[in-house]
Amino acid sequence: MVRKGILFVVSGSSGVGKGTINKAVLEKVSDIRMSVSATTRPKREGEVEGRDYFFVSPDEFAARVKNGDFLEYAKVYSHMYGTPRQFVEENMQKGYDLLLEIDIQGAMKVKEQMPQGVFIFIQPPSREVLAQRIHGRGKDSMDSIRARLAAYEQEMAMRKHYDYVVVNDDLEEAVYKVQAIIVAERCRVRI
Ligand code: 5GP
Repeated sequence: MVRKGILFVVSGSSGVGKGTINKAVLEKVSDIRMSVSATTRPKREGEVEGRDYFFVSPDEFAARVKNGDFLEYAKVYSHMYGTPRQFVEENMQKGYDLLLEIDIQGAMKVKEQMPQGVFIFIQPPSREVLAQRIHGRGKDSMDSIRARLAAYEQEMAMRKHYDYVVVNDDLEEAVYKVQAIIVAERCRVRI
């Protein structure tokens, strides 16, 4: 019998560095695949269709929602994002471990459907560091900064729903910790 794949959900606030961590993890860990989400947001420079995202129109996204194609979907900063159900289920059945990079609301929806997944919360070093980073960029209005910091408190409160917390202070260390979690989970005795 083929061992069923393990679903690793890496999530946390937008801008916390989960994308950077995941890319590094993918290079270091063998036999793990990254799920590619669909989004309605425009493609950024350097992004590749099917590698970074499947870029779809709002109409197509809505049709896929209606069709039940997404394991979860969410609106994140004015664009829609969805995790393709078929890709996740097929790969897990075949025994591949999967890495999912999604926001917190999405992770909670996946947890409802797949509580056997491994949920990893990426945390910024502190509220102060987050505030400094936002201020430092100089792009956000005071209202937006307040909203983001308010969201920070709410997001921290979600940590208790996760299996692991990794603080992204030093990138290399954060990558090492996620890698270690994957290795440990693969060694776990499962029923
Ligand atoms: P970005 O547009 O910068 O690539 O991503 C914005 C946010 O959407 C990030 O926090 C990212 O993790 C999240 N995201 C990406 N794909 C999905 C998805 O399929 N579902 C959900 N819920 N969030 C996603």
